[in-house]
Amino acid sequence: MEPYEAIGNDGIQERLLEVQARIRAAVERAQRPPDSVALLAVSKTHGAEAVRAAYAAGQRAFGESYVQEAIEKIALLADLPDIEWHFIGRIQANKTRQIAARFDWVHGLSDSAHARRLSEQRPSNLPPLKVCIQVNVSGETSKGGVEPEAVAALIATCEALPGLVVRGLMTLPAPAEDEDAQRKPFRGLRLLRDRLATANRPLACLSMGMSDDLEAAILEGATLVRVGTAVFGPRPYNAG
Ligand SMILES: *Cc1c(COP(=O)(O)O)cnc(C)c1O
Repeated sequence: MEPYEAIGNDGIQERLLEVQARIRAAVERAQRPPDSVALLAVSKTHGAEAVRAAYAAGQRAFGESYVQEAIEKIALLADLPDIEWHFIGRIQANKTRQIAARFDWVHGLSDSAHARRLSEQRPSNLPPLKVCIQVNVSGETSKGGVEPEAVAALIATCEALPGLVVRGLMTLPAPAEDEDAQRKPFRGLRLLRDRLATANRPLACLSMGMSDDLEAAILEGATLVRVGTAVFGPRPYNAG
């Protein structure tokens, strides 16, 4: 995959069009219905003006990983109607109140104590927080997520919490070179979802795929791809 060049905010609309075209091509290859994959634009480390440029180009859903940075950006962009904020970073217990108050979605929930805090701290004037359970499908401990065997129990915990609604599963596998290798953990997440889904609990969201592996994820059933670099260019820093 060629490296993504740094771009100014003027380039964002073009990048968005390119990413949308990649998504469409993969959806066609997978013979899936058009519009079956949503784009989450991952704006972490990029400024509010970059988000504004993407919003002007029609993008509405944005992903952030660092709470403090996100809170400031969300405040700067409070004038944009229908903007949707997804927390995709590692959850820390001392940040759950801010996450519960400011975000619409949380991807990467993998801890029942965090689930309880997020539910309790969700402001009562807001709809329940939409969550995806993060699963460690490929068996690497460093990437976070619950083991596949533990997912059903965590879903059950969340379903008893009024401030949360479980929308599906998320995974963040280690980078892999070729498409076959990329597809393996994504297929694992889909098969797990198929096993756990019921009529009352469809687990419709499969949050998987990023800039370098979104095609593989879509071929395996992703309904939401989280794309940062391919939309906004390289990140100016890694906030850790
Ligand atoms: C940063 C991040 C992304 C986006 O990664 P890119 O390779 O820049 O597309 C997606 N998901 C998560 C959880 C991330 O932290």
